[in-house]
Amino acid sequence: MGPPNLRHISGNTYIIPAPVIMGLYVRDNRAVLIDSGNDKEAGRQVLRILNEQGWTLELIINTHSNADHIGGNQFLQKRTNCRIAATRLEAAFIQDPVLEPAFLYGGFPFRDLQNKFLMAKPSTVTDIIPSSGDVLETGLEAHPIPGHFFEMIGISTPDGVLFLADCLFPESIISKYHIFYLYDLRAHFQTLDAVSAMHADWYIPSHAKPTQDINRLLDINRDKINEILETVEDCCRALSFDEILAKLCERYSIDLNAEQYVLVGSTLKSYLSFLRNEGRVECLYGQGRLLWKALR
Ligand SMILES: [Zn+2]
Repeated sequence: MGPPNLRHISGNTYIIPAPVIMGLYVRDNRAVLIDSGNDKEAGRQVLRILNEQGWTLELIINTHSNADHIGGNQFLQKRTNCRIAATRLEAAFIQDPVLEPAFLYGGFPFRDLQNKFLMAKPSTVTDIIPSSGDVLETGLEAHPIPGHFFEMIGISTPDGVLFLADCLFPESIISKYHIFYLYDLRAHFQTLDAVSAMHADWYIPSHAKPTQDINRLLDINRDKINEILETVEDCCRALSFDEILAKLCERYSIDLNAEQYVLVGSTLKSYLSFLRNEGRVECLYGQGRLLWKALR
């Protein structure tokens, strides 16, 4: 039996179920890590496990660039000199993490936004990888699952394990927080369809329990997004972004702070963009404001 923080899934595939699940794929005592967790502490935990097992870290594959998935990168790269692989757009955020709070806020991020939850420590991406196909010489395969973030990827291992990053959130998070971060709803809906057509023995979303049946989780996620779309559409009564945000926070009992403001706010903008592109709302400009108005 391994140490309590390492869980065997199948064949050469393991997970470290820290707050954000990390994956490990090990061949000949050489390990590939899938995401690096929240912060330096997560990195430290990974290194301890690797040392206990006598494994060397060769490569980190980052599924996407959110701070809670790349937080251990810098620590691990400094200690082990490992390579880091990511898709091109995600690599930009990994190497220059100020892009995350700057993007979420839509301008220079004020100091409350420059914290470890939104801005990881920088690390060097040594390998830009395509979002589909074989990942370097690892035996792992990348699958495009954009939507939650720009060029997010899933990773499958030859052991029938599919790491799904943040394309699905568990029921517990959805029923508590309702609104989870989304960048591109159209891409996300396509991703959910694509995932339902993928076959694996184990599905591992980063924030949910590993599961052998993904269909229920897909339905829960899809239904919630459609519910929020209707809620946002109902709020569009020639109101400004801030007024719609206030209604949404009231509807879902969301308490704002700096992080929630940019995360929920940015997600709301993505919902509004989707509704606009679907022809369900229009934009009215006047008196120094942009007002969103439903068309039905
Ligand atoms: Zn994420």
